[in-house]
Formats: sequence, C-alpha cells, structure tokens
Amino acid sequence: MTHPVDHELIQAAADVARKRSHGDNHTMAAAARTRDGRIVTAMNAYHFTGGPCAELVVVGAAAAQGAYDLDTIVAVGDRDRGVVAPCGRCRQVLADYFPDLEVIVGRDAGLRTVPITDLLPETYVWADHQLEADATGASA
Ligand SMILES: [Zn+2]
Repeated sequence: MTHPVDHELIQAAADVARKRSHGDNHTMAAAARTRDGRIVTAMNAYHFTGGPCAELVVVGAAAAQGAYDLDTIVAVGDRDRGVVAPCGRCRQVLADYFPDLEVIVGRDAGLRTVPITDLLPETYVWADHQLEADATGASA
C-alpha cells in the first residue's frame, strides 16, 4: 500500500521552520493538511515542564480555524534538519485524535507517508477504554 507524499505540506512546514525558528523555544515546525484541503502550520513551544511539540500545537491551531479532522501531518526541524518523525507522546495523541491520520516520515528518497497506526503498533486506544455514555448522555 503506497501513499503519495504531500510535498506541498512538507514545503509549508519547511518554510515555517526556516523563517520562524527562534532560539531554544521554537525549533520544530509542523504542517497539517485538513480534511477539506487546507494547510495549517505551527511551531513547538518548548519548555522543560513538557511544552508541546509542533504536532500538538498544530492540532490546536487547526481547531482554532474550525478544522477538527486532519488528513496528513509532517514536522520539519530547524537548521535544515528536514522531516522529523513524531515522538512517542505525539504518536499516541495523534492516533487517539485522528485514527485515520497519515504521517510523512523519512528523508530524501526515503520520504514516505504512513498511517499513524503503523507508527504505534498494538497501542492502547483511549476511546476503547471510555465508559459508554448512558441514555441521558451522561457518562459514569
Ligand atoms: Zn512530540
């Protein structure tokens, strides 16, 4: 199963990484393709207490634009680091938010688009462990 690589999306993240990286706080850019075709970009907000990665900031930025379903995501590092795969925390969040999301990973000729589920095999799925809401809509 091959998935085309969204080079426009990579370019959008690379542009932000090149133009907007700033010191130690903002070193990674992410771009997401919304289900309706828009591109949303964001940067990480590093902090030693657990500041969010660029992938998580872009989820919130997309929501701020009314985009609650993402099709594809990619992160690009500053200093011409190129595409950077999501960390473990981001993989879990992305898989729970967008089970059908595709992620661009790899470098150069190895760039490829893979399902988020391929990056997190046999994972815990948050939605599978929530109590069903009862008939009144309230959950236990
Ligand atoms: Zn992360």
